[in-house]
Formats: sequence, C-alpha cells, structure tokens
Amino acid sequence: MKEIVVLSGKGGTGKTTMMGSLAVIVPDKIIADCDVDAADLHLLLEPEIKEKHDFVSGVEAEVIPDKCTGCGTCVELCKWEAITLDETAYVEPLDCEGCGVCAHFCPEEAIMLKDKHCGYWFKSETPYGPFVHAQLGIGEENSGKLVSLVKNKAKEWGEELGKKWVIVDGAPGIGCPVIASLSGAHAVLLITEPTPSGLHDMGRVLELTAHFKIPTFVCVNKWDLHPEGAKAIEDHCDKNNVAVIGHLPYDPCVVKAMVQGKPVVSLFADSPVSVAIKEVWQKLSSILS
Ligand code: SF4
Ligand code: SF4
Repeated sequence: MKEIVVLSGKGGTGKTTMMGSLAVIVPDKIIADCDVDAADLHLLLEPEIKEKHDFVSGVEAEVIPDKCTGCGTCVELCKWEAITLDETAYVEPLDCEGCGVCAHFCPEEAIMLKDKHCGYWFKSETPYGPFVHAQLGIGEENSGKLVSLVKNKAKEWGEELGKKWVIVDGAPGIGCPVIASLSGAHAVLLITEPTPSGLHDMGRVLELTAHFKIPTFVCVNKWDLHPEGAKAIEDHCDKNNVAVIGHLPYDPCVVKAMVQGKPVVSLFADSPVSVAIKEVWQKLSSILS
C-alpha cells in the first residue's frame, strides 16, 4: 500500500479541491483527513459514520468541592489563571493547560487530574471509498497526536481491506501536525498558487520534505491568473530538482461544485480543471508505480 500526502504551504491554495477530486478518481484507496484543525473534506465526501471513538489526550484539573477549604493556594499558583475562587475553587476547563501544579500543591488533595477528552475520530463509508477523519473539541489544540492517530487507523483499515493507496489530506503549514502527517509517506503532492506567498510557503514545505527525504511533486493551482508567478515556482522547483507535474487553470466550475458540496471532478468531469486534475493523477500514479 502506497501513501500520498497532499499538502499546501498555507490554507486556501486548492488542497481541498485536489483532495476531493482524488477521492473520486483514485481507484482502490482509503482516504484520511489529517487536516484535523480545519477538517472540511467530510463536507464533500458525504461520509456515513460507521464507528465513532473518543480522542483523549493529556489531563485537566478538577476540584473536589467537598475537600476544598477555599485556601486560595491553587489560584495563586496557576500561571494560566484557570482557577477562580468563590467558597471553593473552580477550574475553567478551557483555560487549564494540565500542568498539574495546583494538584501537587493543594494542601487538602482536593484537586484531581483527569484525562482530557479532546474530540472524536471516525471510521466512515463514502460513495468514493472508506474514510478516516476526526473532529477536535471546541478550543482544543492539535498536537499532532490526533493526526498520527487518524493516519495510523487509516493505514490499518486500508491494510485490512487490501487497498493499494492511502490518500492523506495533510495540514497546511510546516508545524507539528504536518510533520505527523508526513511520517511514513511515499510521496507528497504539494499544491501551491502563483503568488509570492505561494512561492515562499512552497519553499518552506520543500525544505521540510527534503529533510525527511520524501519525494515531492508540485501542482500549481490557477496558474493562468499569474503566469509569471507560475514561472517563478517552476524555476524554484527546477533549482531544487522537484518535478512540477500539474498546472490547474482557473475554472469557475470549482466554486459551482463547492457550492453544491461535491468534488469538482464528479460534477464537471470534462471541465478544464477536472481534466488537469486527472492528468496530475495519471502522472503521479505512473511515477509511483
Ligand atoms: S489549594 Fe486546594 S483547598 Fe486550597 S482553594 Fe485550591 S483546591 Fe481548595
Ligand atoms: S493544572 Fe495547571 S493550568 Fe490547570 S488549573 Fe492546575 S495549575 Fe492551572
């Protein structure tokens, strides 16, 4: 089973358009949405949830009111100002960082640290194949653990089903969630746009994938809106021995499909952007095969 991670240096470059379309056209695959901070692939793939699991990560403090004497020690010690005091102390869960200082120094042992429920992960079926995805709780930060979990579950399930490909929607940027989504990947498809910020952010991702020695292929979205910008991207890729395997044109069908909540290749199969996306997949699959 081969794993392809779709990345973008930043949000809004067309990664979801590409992912939604790959979900339709790649045969014999499992799909994983590792962009858990801004998960949106489910909006296009109409998943029917088959399994829902808790995602627990870290701890949070909770006061046992019957034991608390209201001495105020924990309020003074909490650097995140997560504790308020009335007659007894109260920890605001959204502000608690789980450092454990309050529990350690409470003279009455009135504070316990309990597992923190941070969200859910799902195994779903879609019209396009099996899909593993997640939902972070409100205010929860993604440390990369949930990304690793989603990816590993997708790989396990894909192996069980005998799939040939794992197609992973990675997080934007170059932080911890992206690094987690790259682990074990056979190739990266990097979507960028022909702007100075697109070039800059692409450069940072290329440094990251070069560091991890993962073959990376670039696709320039809306290249025809700024051909000089697209040329600058090609020049940068040439210098760094990175292949540019796709140029997607600006195509109003992308927005029309998005409004209807469908991948563009499923609604407008012969539109210019759909044809270009199919060519990208043909190139990528033949290189990886
Ligand atoms: S340190 Fe313990 S006893 Fe004192 S206010 Fe906080 S929870 Fe209550
Ligand atoms: S665990 Fe740390 S952050 Fe949370 S309430 Fe206690 S001292 Fe504050």
